[in-house]
Amino acid sequence: MTMAAPLIHLQGISRTYRNGELATTVLHDLDLEIHRGEFVAIMGASGSGKSTLMHLLGCLDRPSTGRYLLDGRDVASLERDDLAQLRQRTFGFIFQSYHLIASASATENVEVPAVYAGLPRPQRRQRARMLLTDLGLGEQLSNKPSQLSGGQQQRVSIARALMNDARIILADEPTGALDSQSGQDVLALLSELHRQGKTVIIITHDAEVASHAQRLIEVRDGRIIADSGPATPPVEARDSAPAPTAGPSDTAVASTLADTGEAVRMALRALRANIFRTVLTLLGIVIGVASVVVMLAVGNGARQEVIERISSLGTNLLLVRPGAPNTRRSQDGLTNTLTPLDAELAGQLDNVVAAVPEMSGRATLRAGNTDYQTQITATSPALPLARDWSVVSGVFLDAQDNQRYAAVAVLGRTVADNLFGPGAAPLGEYVLINNVPFQVIGVMAPKGATPWGADQDDVVFVPLNTGSLRLIGQRHLNSITVMIDDLSQAELTQEALRQMLLHAHGGVEDFQIRNMASLLENVADTQNTFTVLLGSIAAISLLVGGIGVMNIMLVNVTERTREIGIRVATGARTRHILQQFIVEALVVSAIGGLLGVAFGLAFAAGLQAFGTAIEFTSGPVLLAFGCAFATGLIFGYMPAHKAANLDPVVALSAD
Ligand code: ADP
Ligand code: MG
Repeated sequence: MTMAAPLIHLQGISRTYRNGELATTVLHDLDLEIHRGEFVAIMGASGSGKSTLMHLLGCLDRPSTGRYLLDGRDVASLERDDLAQLRQRTFGFIFQSYHLIASASATENVEVPAVYAGLPRPQRRQRARMLLTDLGLGEQLSNKPSQLSGGQQQRVSIARALMNDARIILADEPTGALDSQSGQDVLALLSELHRQGKTVIIITHDAEVASHAQRLIEVRDGRIIADSGPATPPVEARDSAPAPTAGPSDTAVASTLADTGEAVRMALRALRANIFRTVLTLLGIVIGVASVVVMLAVGNGARQEVIERISSLGTNLLLVRPGAPNTRRSQDGLTNTLTPLDAELAGQLDNVVAAVPEMSGRATLRAGNTDYQTQITATSPALPLARDWSVVSGVFLDAQDNQRYAAVAVLGRTVADNLFGPGAAPLGEYVLINNVPFQVIGVMAPKGATPWGADQDDVVFVPLNTGSLRLIGQRHLNSITVMIDDLSQAELTQEALRQMLLHAHGGVEDFQIRNMASLLENVADTQNTFTVLLGSIAAISLLVGGIGVMNIMLVNVTERTREIGIRVATGARTRHILQQFIVEALVVSAIGGLLGVAFGLAFAAGLQAFGTAIEFTSGPVLLAFGCAFATGLIFGYMPAHKAANLDPVVALSAD
């Protein structure tokens, strides 16, 4: 028994703190052996280096020189995460100031080490309750630390130290903050743990407290000045059976899922603990996401509306205009190039349903005492077909009207309203157009405005021949609208039309043909740009929301540095801390994203109710939510990274 390797073996350990130029050596060349099952008190005045020694013993800190063999193994070779794992299985810490997580209940505090050991939640909970009940806290299981007395808090921290069935209990001034009765209780508990076979190391400045231990080591100015030597350990002293830690059977995926679930629960708890701040952060994300959703819905709605208006003009139309391509139509001599004959020829092409000539001029109309200026369009009977526009009363012009040069007119809704009163159907009445009497034979159905805002109903239609001869006084057309049958052949038909017109015009391309489909594409492109612009403005507000998340997470990390220290001391690895803070950022962003989407959709629906064109698509919604989530991830990473890499000793001593 006496020849067994010591559990703890320090060889020439020293610890030097460096502050820039200044180096303070706190521990000098310590040699120390502690065996399994010992109950050791390390006693010394304040500032003698006891806590520093405890941090080294507990693998929270590394020595500057010397070797530390734990169970015969040199811990210097271990990485940060290996040390965390070692602590989690080996040490239970009890601190003078308890170091409980303020936002967590007694049970949740006790559970923390088991979370990182991967013990499933129900078992964890059950064991934590059992430990607390054993320590007389059965009634206070769900109390927060602020609802417990000092003695009770210290018992919670003892339960936490026992959670993973640690082999070594390290207690730094465990009674320092307690009244004498609570102090006695805690010491009795530690003695009991020693009897159960644990190795207990208690640090104190108080000789009375130290007298409870079997072995007394005195420290002064970082040196051991007295050591009563190892006592014979109790007969039954042995490492107790392993704690109910998670078996290695856990698959990585399952444990990651369990970790994430736990991280989400912890995140929600942390966010609830500071509800006002959480709400403010949420607000930033909510506004950002909602504006993305609304802006894109409005942008897409406007685009859809324009497309619909243009489509209502007909996508199966080719529009022939006079004048060579890329010349200004106002230049005289270039515009008088289309003739009614061209329209007739166009009408005979394959795949052409109708070719409608239009010749326009302005004229003054008079009915009774009312004068009205409007546009006269001389055209053919096929116009209602090509423009998908019918008469609401009476009839449209027919072929005979044209042949007979008949003085008949079909009024647009606006014209009829202005001359005869709203809603009138003045069939058979006469109007004077430029002092020529025309009989009204029909009124067009209202058509509304063009995509560019002109009133399409402010027009009077007359037969082409009549208009040309008696009203407009010329033979040249403003346009020919060619309606095609098979849209898939549109390109071919357009080319045939061009060849035909070129031939008719002696090889001179003094006309241009536009098709509505390509116009539509142009307009849609323009509208897309508009939508992207709106979207980017909204994205900026989302970015601002993201910076809010980062800000709050940084504050969070700073505020909860001690909590991070506690978690790391009890076995949390870098990835656990990283995960916890990223999950917190993600939870805020996800909640903000969901609320934002809901508000955005509600707001857009409100706008729609007031007549704004809105297009609801899943794209922007997913985009906005995805952006919020990504924002949380990106802006949460930096603070999380900062938290995960805190030095445990520094983190623990933060206030
Ligand atoms: P004890 O726990 O015995 O009261 P500590 O181990 O806390 O003593 O501290 C021992 C000495 O080391 C003190 O003089 C203290 O000022 C110094 N010290 C502790 N931590 C640091 C640090 N991070 N940087 C510089 N000096 C430190
Ligand atoms: Mg101390």
